Amino acid sequence: MKIISDIFKMQRTADDLRASGKKIALVPTMGYLHEGHLSLVDEAKKNADVVVLSIYVNPSQFAPHEDLSTYPRDFARDSKLAEARGVDIIFAPEDKVMYPEKELVFVETEEVSHILEGEFRPTHFKGVASVVAKLFNIVKPHVAVFGQKDAQQAFIIRRMVSDLNFDVSMIVAPIVREEDGLALSSRNVYLSEENRKEATVLYRSLNLAQQIVRDGERQFTRVRSEMLRHITAESQGKIDYISFVNPDTFTRVEEAGALKRVLALLAARFGRTRLIDNMFLEVSHK
Ligand code: AMP
Repeated sequence: MKIISDIFKMQRTADDLRASGKKIALVPTMGYLHEGHLSLVDEAKKNADVVVLSIYVNPSQFAPHEDLSTYPRDFARDSKLAEARGVDIIFAPEDKVMYPEKELVFVETEEVSHILEGEFRPTHFKGVASVVAKLFNIVKPHVAVFGQKDAQQAFIIRRMVSDLNFDVSMIVAPIVREEDGLALSSRNVYLSEENRKEATVLYRSLNLAQQIVRDGERQFTRVRSEMLRHITAESQGKIDYISFVNPDTFTRVEEAGALKRVLALLAARFGRTRLIDNMFLEVSHK
């Protein structure tokens, strides 16, 4: 496994791989790898000859009050895990390499990027889209693999690819969870023992939503109320949002109508740790 931190070197490596007919997959991450990230590597390996895993905690997607400085990092551990899983190249640039001067040009994101996560993190998706565009230009992948864990991010990147005609195919891989249902996240290490136990309520509330919808509920305001009741009864979690969208458009859904699937998304804070999760709800049309 190669470790590359220089942009020019990564670009020339990508050119050589492309010239020799190799298909490149990119798995962008912020590191502190867990099984969720590694499942993306597995997906990448199925769809390409060479897997590039990028590890970069991108400052431009964090707001000043967020956890940029304390975000967990362990490059030695990450590189061992990546190598054992069959990653071919880690691309791990430093900030001064990625942003040698204050940026002038960004990828601007609109509409969908201002709801849900965007309401609580107004500049987040602009930062994400801009850094992913940079990574696409640096790694030159044929395929890029993202996780459904960050459903809104995956939707926005998919739209960036189509709106800006990036020659990259997108794969979105399912959420990997702990045995008790908590979605894996690098941020889970921040959770106190008590918060860690309570945080499983998010997955249980999504399952509850699925049950209610399967039983024939069509009004999502009622589904939301039930989820809210469940979360507040079973935890100290502070909910930022519980929302339902059409997965094809990411527009809010209040009533199931003819939709076969609705995406339920939520964000909640346990202590100082903010967690997100989501689930596709199959709508019953009996
Ligand atoms: P991050 O390092 O948190 O920025 O995540 C990098 C990529 O891994 C993103 O595409 C995430 O959606 C994906 N990812 C993070 N957690 C999980 C998970 N539990 N299951 C599947 N993919 C995940």
